[in-house]
Amino acid sequence: MPAPITIPTEPIGSIPRPLDLIERVAKGGSEDPSLAPLYDDAVRDTIARLEAAGSPVVTDGEQRKYHNFATYCVHGLANTAPDGFTIPFADGHTRRLPRLTRGPFRYGHYADRYLDVAMRYAHVPVKQAVISPSALSLMYPAQGVRDYPRERFIDDLLREHETEIRRCLKKGAHKVQVDFTEGRLAVKVDSSGHLLNSFIDLNNLALSRFSPEERRRIGVHTCPGNDRDSTHSAEVDYAELLPSLFALKAGNFYIALAGEPDRRHVLEIIRKHLRADRRIFVGVIAPIDPRIETPEEVRDRVLEASEYIPLEQLGTTDDCGFSPFFDDTSTSRDTAFAKIQARVRGTAMAAELIGARQ
Ligand SMILES: [Zn+2]
Repeated sequence: MPAPITIPTEPIGSIPRPLDLIERVAKGGSEDPSLAPLYDDAVRDTIARLEAAGSPVVTDGEQRKYHNFATYCVHGLANTAPDGFTIPFADGHTRRLPRLTRGPFRYGHYADRYLDVAMRYAHVPVKQAVISPSALSLMYPAQGVRDYPRERFIDDLLREHETEIRRCLKKGAHKVQVDFTEGRLAVKVDSSGHLLNSFIDLNNLALSRFSPEERRRIGVHTCPGNDRDSTHSAEVDYAELLPSLFALKAGNFYIALAGEPDRRHVLEIIRKHLRADRRIFVGVIAPIDPRIETPEEVRDRVLEASEYIPLEQLGTTDDCGFSPFFDDTSTSRDTAFAKIQARVRGTAMAAELIGARQ
């Protein structure tokens, strides 16, 4: 009998926060010390429910990433102002990044602090998402910062990002996933591809600081954005993004696919540009779709992907986090965990079928 086949499956990161936590933060601010037990409960409950769903790898659901997946590390810093880069979503709403007002640029804290808490509660490996240098580079204003040239900012940014990843790796993160949602957005903002390529170059400067062994535990996530059931760059064809994206020196890629109108078109591009020693985690669940996928649907999506991606390079994931911004209540926790359970079961069903064929 052939050995059973396992196809790795991982979440992206965020899970909707409990409603009482969102309400308490709205009233008293995210740093109110009396919220500590609520945050702790939220992390513990998130990990317990991910494990109950059969998730072989878990996250803390980003319950403590206030206010979002991108600015957690600079939240509350005195040398920032709220009027930075604007992310426009398709439904008309916007989100803004902070703007750097003076140097030097330093993180307020690193994501390994979330890992510390998550690992206390988890019985399975924990992954940690961090924000990309390219996203944070948007904090530096076009007109410059007095006595703090952009080159020095980039040096500081890369050092902080490297430090954050190293701290997560050292503490035993199963994977460190660099969130790169602005990659697809960059093509929308600048169709010449110059902005995207400058992002790729910057992120590769960071990735180059790690050894090949370390990079096997580092991944990059791309998606068209997900906030209030809306996207920021879904109309950008993956043909404009993936060839450059695959130039990133990461061992893993987490690619939104379930919500794409033509999955086989995307899989063709992946097959054409895929390099050795890279694992592709394809999105088989669409957090943006309120309907809960069935395990059978997931199974069929995995089988479809396996026609294009060699089995030893294939994994599954969700298209995105379920609520990258803390106050997004468009998806309930129950729905998120039900979708994750369908991903885990459907991926296992596909693996069993593929194994039986060999
Ligand atoms: Zn995403």
